[in-house]
This record gives sequence, structure tokens and C-alpha cells, in this order.
Amino acid sequence: MTATPKMLLAVRFGQPIKTRPSCWLARLGPTVVFALLFGFAAARAQAPSVPVSGVDAALIEDIVTGSRVLADFGVLDGFGHVSARHPTNPNRFLMSRSLAPALVTAADIMEFDLDGNAVGDSGRSVFLERFIHSEIYKARPDVMSVVHTHSPGVIPFTVSQAPLRPLYHNAAFLAAGAPVWDIRKDFGETDMLVRDPSLGKSLAQTLGDKSVVLMRGHGDVTVGPSVKVAVFRAYYTDVNARLQSQAIALGGDVNYLTPGEGAKADTVNLAVLDRIWNLWRLRIAPSLAK
Ligand SMILES: [Zn+2]
Repeated sequence: MTATPKMLLAVRFGQPIKTRPSCWLARLGPTVVFALLFGFAAARAQAPSVPVSGVDAALIEDIVTGSRVLADFGVLDGFGHVSARHPTNPNRFLMSRSLAPALVTAADIMEFDLDGNAVGDSGRSVFLERFIHSEIYKARPDVMSVVHTHSPGVIPFTVSQAPLRPLYHNAAFLAAGAPVWDIRKDFGETDMLVRDPSLGKSLAQTLGDKSVVLMRGHGDVTVGPSVKVAVFRAYYTDVNARLQSQAIALGGDVNYLTPGEGAKADTVNLAVLDRIWNLWRLRIAPSLAK
């Protein structure tokens, strides 16, 4: 059998080859067939989004930027998430549907209540560990953003006796302390994931009034009064951890920032945060343009 142009077209689109000339597909022109098939494929790839009411587009953009920047720096990989408290309803928060952070777009942002339930659930898949966010928003009215990472630099400090401490001014917020939450302490042997509210509540209790909590054998959580600050802290927690490992490896005593130095330096960092945030936005702009 000799392949006709119509049969080749069918093969290209992964359709079963129709040998009868009466095939309905064959009656359509190639342009119409192309539009129909690729249009359907695009619709399947893009899960339906539910508009988040009352939220400034700039806040959504911050969540997208934060997710992509932390992925670009390797602080997040295929896992981890950035969220923001709803600006007008403190009992709600915003985060992406279940998706690798480097792929998050504005259309992927969903709204959740503080029990971790999706609002206006469209059937989209959601993050298993969303209870990290919901329980911290419950416990900390001052927190407007939460970031959860599996930061490679931080992991050694979650399993060793060496406390994570501020080595330099950009990580000054660590001077207030970075407690370690061990899921096994109260919950025994688990799969290590914060998959329900009781686990999230326990994590939030260990965080206390701090900006960072480490999770034994898992990663960390940073919080802040804005997405920019929480993302800044997630990035510099990872950088500081890597530098601290190097400083410890050099041997001898390490001269850390004191709590007083940390408080003063953190005030300056927060005041100039937009400078680095604007640089980070440029860094991920090409990926958003795709
Ligand atoms: Zn995790």
C-alpha cells in the first residue's frame, strides 16, 4: 500500500491511519485539521484556572517570580513552593497548583483556606505539603508569605549537631535562631512529608516567632511579611548554609554575627530588598517569555 498525503498527515498527528477515502478527517483541509488537533492538545495541557478574586496581579507575579528565581538558583528543584496570604482575606492563602516551581505561571495560582482546602476547587492537583503553609498562616498572623524548600545547602544542618548561624550580613535574619523540627520526635517513623494539619501545626510550633525553621532530613521553611522577604530568606538561608559548611571545614572557631549585629544588618537588608528583587525579575524574564 502506498502512503497518501492524507495518511502521512494522520501519522504525524498520532492518529490511526484511515484507509477509506470517506474518513471525516480527510474531508477537512490540512489547516483545519492542524488547528483542531493542536488546539485540543493545548487545552488538555493547560488545566483550567479559577480566577483569584480581589488579588492584585503584582502579588501573583511575586509568587511566580519567587518560584522561578529559587528554582533558577537551585534552592528549589522539582519540589518546594512559594505562597502568599490573601491580601484582603487573612483566612485564605495563594499558591500554585501542584507543579515544578520553574514552570509556575499566574494561571496556576489557586486560593486555599487555612485548613488546606482549595477554594473553588476545579479538580486541579494540589501540593501534598500545603499544610506547612496553612498551619503557619494560622499560627502567625504577622506572616504574609511562606516558602518551603529542600535546599541542598541546608540539609546537613538538619541532621547534624551544628546549628545554622549567620556567617555574613545577608543572612542576618538567622541571628534570631533557626530551630530544627524533627518529625520523628512526635510522629514516629513517617514518609517525612507534612501531609496533614497536625504535622503542619507541630512544624509551626517549632518555628515559633522565628523567620526560619529547619526540617530534619527534609529542608526548611522561611517566612516573612512579604513574598519578596520570604524568598530572600530562602535564598540566603541556602547560601549561608553552604558558606558555613566551608567555614567549619577550614577548622578552628567560626566568628558568627552576634544577635545585635544580625538585627541591625537585617533592617538594612529589608530596606534595600527591591534592588535585588528587580535583578531577580530580570534573571527569570526570558523563561517567562517562552
Ligand atoms: Zn517538602
